Amino acid sequence: MNIINKIMKLYLYNTLTRRKEEFIPINPEETGLYTCGPTVYNYAHIGNLRTYIFEDILKRVLRYNGFRVRHVMNITDVGHLTGDRDMGEDKLEKGAAREGKSAWEIAEYYTQAFKKDMKALNLLEPDIWCRATDTIPEQIELIRILEEKGYTYRTADGIYFDTGKFPDYTKLSHQNLDALQEGARVEKNPEKRNATDFALWKFSPPDVQRQMEWDSPWGRGFPGWHIECSAMSMKFLGERLDIHCGGTDHINVHHTNEIAQSEAASGKQFFRFWMHGAFLNIEGGKKMAKSAGNFLTLENTLIAKGFDPLSYRFAAFQTHYRNPMEYTSESMQAAQNGLLHLKNRLRSIRESADMTSGSICADFQQKFLAEINDDLNMPRAMALVQEMLKSDLSPADKNATVLDFDRVLGLNLDKGDAAESIPPQVQELARARQKARKEKNWAESDRLRDAIRELGYMVRDTKEGMKIDTIG
Ligand code: AMP
Ligand code: ZN
Repeated sequence: MNIINKIMKLYLYNTLTRRKEEFIPINPEETGLYTCGPTVYNYAHIGNLRTYIFEDILKRVLRYNGFRVRHVMNITDVGHLTGDRDMGEDKLEKGAAREGKSAWEIAEYYTQAFKKDMKALNLLEPDIWCRATDTIPEQIELIRILEEKGYTYRTADGIYFDTGKFPDYTKLSHQNLDALQEGARVEKNPEKRNATDFALWKFSPPDVQRQMEWDSPWGRGFPGWHIECSAMSMKFLGERLDIHCGGTDHINVHHTNEIAQSEAASGKQFFRFWMHGAFLNIEGGKKMAKSAGNFLTLENTLIAKGFDPLSYRFAAFQTHYRNPMEYTSESMQAAQNGLLHLKNRLRSIRESADMTSGSICADFQQKFLAEINDDLNMPRAMALVQEMLKSDLSPADKNATVLDFDRVLGLNLDKGDAAESIPPQVQELARARQKARKEKNWAESDRLRDAIRELGYMVRDTKEGMKIDTIG
């Protein structure tokens, strides 16, 4: 691998510079990767999970290129409010009221649920998990530095960051601030100096007893949402501030604010690469929301319907991470069929010859690397997998090469799948064909054979009975 990596550069799209750039880590020994984690007041929906799949691919691609990665993911268990721009309720306290549990219990429950989803999707665990509530002193210290440097001011409900004092405030988002100020006339907080100012510390309300609150130099309260990611990335990555990721919704507010407060405090550039995954939309571009009854989780959308959760991972590979992806039940069915077809194809390959002497094909490995190193082009990488399987490589070499690719794909392609993994749709058609043959209805039997073919399978009538293989 290492010989190849010296020639093949890794290019990633950087939201900050708005172009693909060669990735070179600050510290050659170790690459620092920070991915904004879940707000644990509810299950993750499959939109959230699309972003985590993109981040997992990024991490695997970095590793495949030979970089050692130190991956930090936070758990947001306090301070993320329901409204934009520091308005509304704390999502955790709201979740607790909804379920009649404590905010701490809610956080623990949904953290575990998230970890279960990660496992089901074969997402590699971060090296460091960190909870916002475990780093309150670090967050207070960062706010204290900002105060000392004159970037903060006090209002009735908290300590705010004055974005007017940070000239590069829009360098990530390229937003038009005048338009924002205009839109903010309806803003409910007249004490804010600029529409974009954000809370670093919020005071506990005088009339409601919060479950999560701490003493601070400014009064009892809780941190604003953005400060946690700055404090935790600095604490756990030190100088290795290489890549910071999240969904595109984080560009305008969360990541923009993280950059402003971190760079104002340290006087140095915060992360060098900012990468964002595009949204998963549901049919017709609608936004997923629990209130709209279209809150799709891994459990209710896939597992309960008998889908292998990895088929969602497979589905995510069909669209480049920077393009919006549309969820439909048909596209999920197609992904499930695609994954099963791939696994069946590998089963046929493995049954056809001795696998012990296989070696990775260097030519295909180069081509694969070229695709993934071009800003994680998974659709093209997946097409290459098919091309490799159709090539004239020996079965043993195909097997060795696909297992090498699976270090990035993470589809568990090493697991020998039984014949039951033939899609139920194909099995049903095959059974109907057998019946038609018994009844000597040859026209119907031929029609069914063609229908099976269209799904990428072939039926063979052997002495031991009917066999189903993949085509191609
Ligand atoms: P949250 O738990 O709300 O903090 O979000 C977790 C991650 O999911 C963040 O990186 C968001 O940017 C991302 N995200 C939220 N909604 C979607 C969506 N519909 N599609 C893709 N990513 C999303
Ligand atoms: Zn964050």
